[in-house]
Amino acid sequence: SKGAAMVTAVAYRLNDQRRQITETLAKFRLNNDQLLEVKNRMRTEILNGLGKKTHDSATVKMWPTYVRSIPDGSENGDFLALDLGGTNFRVLLVKIRSGKRRTVEMHNKIYAIPMEVMQGTGEELFDHIVHCISDFLDYMGMKNARLPMGFTFSFPCRQNSLDEGILVTWTKGFKATDCEGEDVVGLLREGIKRREEFELDVVAVVNDTVGTMMTCAYEEPSCEVGLIAGTGSNACYMEEMRNIETVDGDEGRMCVNMEWGAFGDNGCLDDIRTEYDRIVDDFSLNPGKQRYEKMCSGMYLGEIVRNILIDLTKRGFLFRGQISEALKTRSIFETKFLSQIESDRLALLQVRSILQHLGLDSTCDDSIIVKEVCGIVSHRAAQICGAGMAAVVDKIRENRGLNQMDITVGVDGTLYKLHPHFSGVMHQTVKELAPKCNVNFLLSEDGSGKGAALITAVGCRLREQERK
Ligand code: BGC
Ligand code: MG
Repeated sequence: SKGAAMVTAVAYRLNDQRRQITETLAKFRLNNDQLLEVKNRMRTEILNGLGKKTHDSATVKMWPTYVRSIPDGSENGDFLALDLGGTNFRVLLVKIRSGKRRTVEMHNKIYAIPMEVMQGTGEELFDHIVHCISDFLDYMGMKNARLPMGFTFSFPCRQNSLDEGILVTWTKGFKATDCEGEDVVGLLREGIKRREEFELDVVAVVNDTVGTMMTCAYEEPSCEVGLIAGTGSNACYMEEMRNIETVDGDEGRMCVNMEWGAFGDNGCLDDIRTEYDRIVDDFSLNPGKQRYEKMCSGMYLGEIVRNILIDLTKRGFLFRGQISEALKTRSIFETKFLSQIESDRLALLQVRSILQHLGLDSTCDDSIIVKEVCGIVSHRAAQICGAGMAAVVDKIRENRGLNQMDITVGVDGTLYKLHPHFSGVMHQTVKELAPKCNVNFLLSEDGSGKGAALITAVGCRLREQERK
């Protein structure tokens, strides 16, 4: 009959739709061999970054940090810390007490950095930062203390000493002019001078991964790796000096800031990147750069999801084929929304209400697909992050000539902390790809600010020793 034919036609169309959606999402599925490839390629890039002859053309830069040891508990004093480059900009006062009962007391205030300031002139950016420090010192009643300060600056920097960091390139949402190629400690000192209101002693510039590692190492000395899975993505670890060919000397170890976000910038991940990854990259502030970061960090996952949804809508599989204004809006899917949508406890009705809140009218079927898209994108992110980490821990194990090794990784970042599945999938991937390492992941609470203070404490002590 006619009715039966229609039912068959509809069923056929739905089947075909389902097949096409599944095919689209399959581009994000990586098998074990592919993940092992990612791990091996990361290892190659690590060696390129460390080597004297290969460093200049390397993508993963493996910057020396001049942090030569983890804390030993003798750190002591009051320190100011700045934390710039993550989800929040913060100023902190950190009071560290050594002795039998070691304590760390922290006070902090979060400040907004308007987008115009992130992408304005360097002078405006640093004036704003100094304005926030000034406000914080008033708030704490410490304008005249001339405290030593640690500057957590979460961008790639070339360092020649602890208190100098030349910004190589902005990443994430920053693009202030006249800063690249400059020493950011110098820019900060100049900003403080311009204001003529207070003095500070800037002792150290610290990547957030390094701050995180140091904070965890303060509690747990087996921590020799730091990982950030947040707005951006990066790792650091204690490398043998003899392997760091870009720094003189062969004794002991130094922490290297890997800047692994740039992994893939030479095209070595092109076979696993999808057309959606390429669109996200093309429309970003830094096209062609930070390609790995753009596949696995909070600032970009939502954008990948959004571009898949746009494509599925254009093909008539979602939102009744209508591309709404909301869907055209960049960055609507922040990490916290992705995390909510993927929460297992949520009923589909609640997923729909989150989408509604973002301005997206969805049917029940739509919400199922949206959740599926979010799931596949974050799953791949966690897997490739794990593959990178597997390369790192295996490198450390080989450095030490061990057949089996226990190690702790200090971790921070909104994606790691908020997302319901990211951490679990990442841990599992490391386990599978680096079976000879027993990796313990330690969440660092407030890691980057506290770590900057610990490094500043060590820096002050070294300076005093030099004076003697
Ligand atoms: C920066 C790194 C930073 C990471 C996490 C990346 O975009 O280049 O320096 O550690 O984000 O914040
Ligand atoms: Mg941070």
